[in-house]
Parts: sequence; C-alpha cells; structure tokens
Amino acid sequence: MLSEEPDSRPTWATSHLRHYEKNRILDPPSNAGNHQNPRPCRYNPIPPTFEPDSQGMLPPGIPRKTPSEIQQAFLEIRNSLLAQSEAIKHPNFEALSTGDLALLFSAYDERFFHGLLEKLLNDRTSLPLRLRLSSRMTSSGGKTTVKQWRDIKSGQLGEISYEIAISTTLLFLSFRDVQRPIQVCGVTCRDRLDALQRLMEHEITHLLEYLLREESSCNKTPFKFLAATIFGHTDTRHQLISQKERAATQFGIRRGSWVRFLYEGQPMEGRVNRITKRATILVPSKTGTLYSDGRKYSNFYIPLGLLDPADPPPSEPR
Ligand SMILES: [Zn+2]
Repeated sequence: MLSEEPDSRPTWATSHLRHYEKNRILDPPSNAGNHQNPRPCRYNPIPPTFEPDSQGMLPPGIPRKTPSEIQQAFLEIRNSLLAQSEAIKHPNFEALSTGDLALLFSAYDERFFHGLLEKLLNDRTSLPLRLRLSSRMTSSGGKTTVKQWRDIKSGQLGEISYEIAISTTLLFLSFRDVQRPIQVCGVTCRDRLDALQRLMEHEITHLLEYLLREESSCNKTPFKFLAATIFGHTDTRHQLISQKERAATQFGIRRGSWVRFLYEGQPMEGRVNRITKRATILVPSKTGTLYSDGRKYSNFYIPLGLLDPADPPPSEPR
C-alpha cells in the first residue's frame, strides 16, 4: 500500500520535457538555494532487463516499425482520439480531460508496444498508472514521476507509483495567437493534437525506461535511441509557446520590463521579475521583502492583459 503516514517518506525520480530556454529569476534571499534537486530513485531492485547495445536492438516485445509504419500508427491514434474523445472534437481542441490521456496511452500501448507497457506496469505495481493534466507546469511540457514510500523505522518499501503529467498551459498557449512553427521532440507540429501526441510519446519513453532500467534521462543515449527508434524523435526538447514568449510578442513585456498597473484602484509601478501564468511584479517598497539585489520589494501577481509597459523613473536602473 502507498502510505502517507508521517513516519514514512518517498523516494522518487522525475523526468521533465524541458524547454530550450533556461529561467534566471531574482530570488528573495530567504528562498535562495532552497530548490530541491530530485534525489536518485531507490526503489525495489529489479534486475535491469534491457541495456541498449551497439546492435541497436529494441527491448524484447517491442516491434520495430519503418518510418512509414510509424506515421501510419500516429495517424490511426490521432483519428481514434478524434472519434472517441468527448472533449477533443478537432485538432486544435479547446478542452482536454484525463480520460483523453488514458485513451491516448492505451492507443500507444496497443499500436507501438502490443500491450507491453500495461504488462510491465502490472508486474511492478498494483497501483494504476496515474495520468494528470497540469496547469502549473509552465515550462516543462510533460513530466514522468516514479514514487515509492519507505517506512523510516522498518525500512520497508511500499508500492511504486508511476505518473505522467502533461502541461495544459503550454498546449493551450500554443496554436493560439502567437504564429510561428512549433517543434516538439524535433518534429514540426501542425496543431495542438500533434503536440499532445509528441509530449505523450516522450513521457511514454521515460516510463518505458523506468520500467525496464529503473532510471531514465532524456539527456542520455539509451533514451535518445528508444525515442528515435520507436517514435522517430530527433530531439528531446519542445518549442511550445510559453507565457513568457507570448508576453513579449503580444504585449511587449519581458522579464525586467518596467510596467504600470492598477491594484485595488491604486496605480502601481514595478519591474517584471517572472512570467508564469501571470507576471510577478516587484514594486519597490520600504516595508517589502529583501531581495538578492539588496533592495526591498512588494510582490504582485498580475494577469498580462492588465499591465502597461512604462519608462522606469530615473531612480531605477535601466
Ligand atoms: Zn524528458
């Protein structure tokens, strides 16, 4: 059983489909250095059943498809989702449910793995694969997490849980108002459904690696080999539109921009420190929090459409 008792703690691993850009933001000193790095996953030792070799062999049970067979399977999955989903009625869908992720996962397991993913999952755990939509993932397109609880006193390990999360924020910001070609995993996407399929394929490759090798990294050769051979991926990153890019192209606002806005009817001015779903504005304030530049600011979290670009006062660095 998966225990959430206070005397147990999880060991876990995550893999992100990351964006090309890296974020550098100003942190309050109290938060600086407080970011937790994923610890290595230490779950039940199951002997690895697959190590990629120089022969370029896929793991047993996974059929190798030709490029045209891969494209045909992609198309069948696309059409089956359009036919079966309650929410996805056209390729640039405006709603998505976890049921759609379940349909998608099953379609991939059937057409690309002949049911191997479900079988490996059943061998490893009695917990079902968790599929989740995330509106809080604003730079990672997808994330695969493996978690296992361990009782600190007895050292006894509980069930392993596997989860795939997909960012709805990035999907719905893309194929919207910002017009430019979008690649995911090195493949140009025509529409939102194409992008969703590529995200799911990337995360399925992480899941497969976790199930076969107990570790997964899309920076490493085994992952790249699997993603290229099974799905034809040529990259491990995405170019989906972030709110940061949309802020710059649609609103002329970037990190560091000086902006004006109304807060509870009061005019305020400050600097954009971070752009996620909304923009975080630092307004200079004697009673605010001390930040890493040695100055004090109050923090405001404002929708992009309510911000007006402005010139900073002479007292502010340009
Ligand atoms: Zn990845």
